[in-house]
Amino acid sequence: MRQAVMVSPGRIEFRDVPVPVPGADEVLLEIKRIGICGSDIHVWHGRHPFTTYPVVQGHEFSAVIAAVGEGVTEVKPGMRATARPQLSCGSCRACMRGDYHICRDLRVQGFQASGCAQEYFAVPESRLVVFPEGLSFEQGALIEPAAVGAHSTRRMDSLSGKNVVVAGAGTIGNLVAQFAKSRGAEKVLITDISEFRLKTAGDCGLRHTANISNESFEDAVHRTFGETGFQAGFEAAGVQSAMDDLVCRIEKGGEIVVLGVFDRNPRINMGYVGEHELKLIGSLMYKHEDYREAVDFIANGSIATDPLVTRHFPFEEYEEAYEYIERQEDKSLKVMIDL
Ligand SMILES: [Zn+2]
Ligand SMILES: [Zn+2]
Repeated sequence: MRQAVMVSPGRIEFRDVPVPVPGADEVLLEIKRIGICGSDIHVWHGRHPFTTYPVVQGHEFSAVIAAVGEGVTEVKPGMRATARPQLSCGSCRACMRGDYHICRDLRVQGFQASGCAQEYFAVPESRLVVFPEGLSFEQGALIEPAAVGAHSTRRMDSLSGKNVVVAGAGTIGNLVAQFAKSRGAEKVLITDISEFRLKTAGDCGLRHTANISNESFEDAVHRTFGETGFQAGFEAAGVQSAMDDLVCRIEKGGEIVVLGVFDRNPRINMGYVGEHELKLIGSLMYKHEDYREAVDFIANGSIATDPLVTRHFPFEEYEEAYEYIERQEDKSLKVMIDL
């Protein structure tokens, strides 16, 4: 079978390798779609701090079950599925209390372990997540980023009745905002500096958007929420100014979930955090239940993913897909590799 290997930053080679043989409790997947995300692009540029080369990328994907090991009972060939890409040790304190997604020795397939950029891929049934026939392979490949939205919006006590600001309208910010809405937020404002990303947010049913290169953050908040302001914030841009806006404009006692990836360590007005009794909450990836919730929310129509898919490339054009992403700058969201 064919396997795409990133041998060095910006260079992908195709190799012919044997089809994996699933172990007793493993499932063999025939890969259908692979989504490319911001972290993959960091690897492409050689700027991902915890990835070495050569690396087989691919951590957000959809597939069909091709075969199952003899110990697998819950699923069978022909079912549509994806899988959580996290490898955890199972014995550290985080793992022992069930927080395997923040395992001391966490490794993620596609970064510190081999990913799914190949025709067939074997995964243990414990990390497998099946999804219904009614979901397309594109929707299936967006379960992973949607699970990030599911998890980050669970990190807060409750979003019910709150006004929410999501800074950053990339794929993750978009999905976070949709989850916040689905979880009963009163109003959700999503901000960005890209008209394309904000228009896509609108296409996903997010009615309140603000381009903060044309309008001040303060004005956008006032226009959207009036005197009530906002009580919950999500930093999904990885930008200093977005972090400042959230910290300095949120209502006293507000909660901010930090999930953006910062190239430069942001400075935060900690005096302000103290005086306003703000809560800053971290959020990393997801847990298995977030995957399941992502499937449910996509399946029941609460979360729209189709507008997020900008373009498809065949497997052989993996490199071209990255070059396209580069050229498009802020005018592409999810680019998919089709197998
Ligand atoms: Zn990703
Ligand atoms: Zn662990």
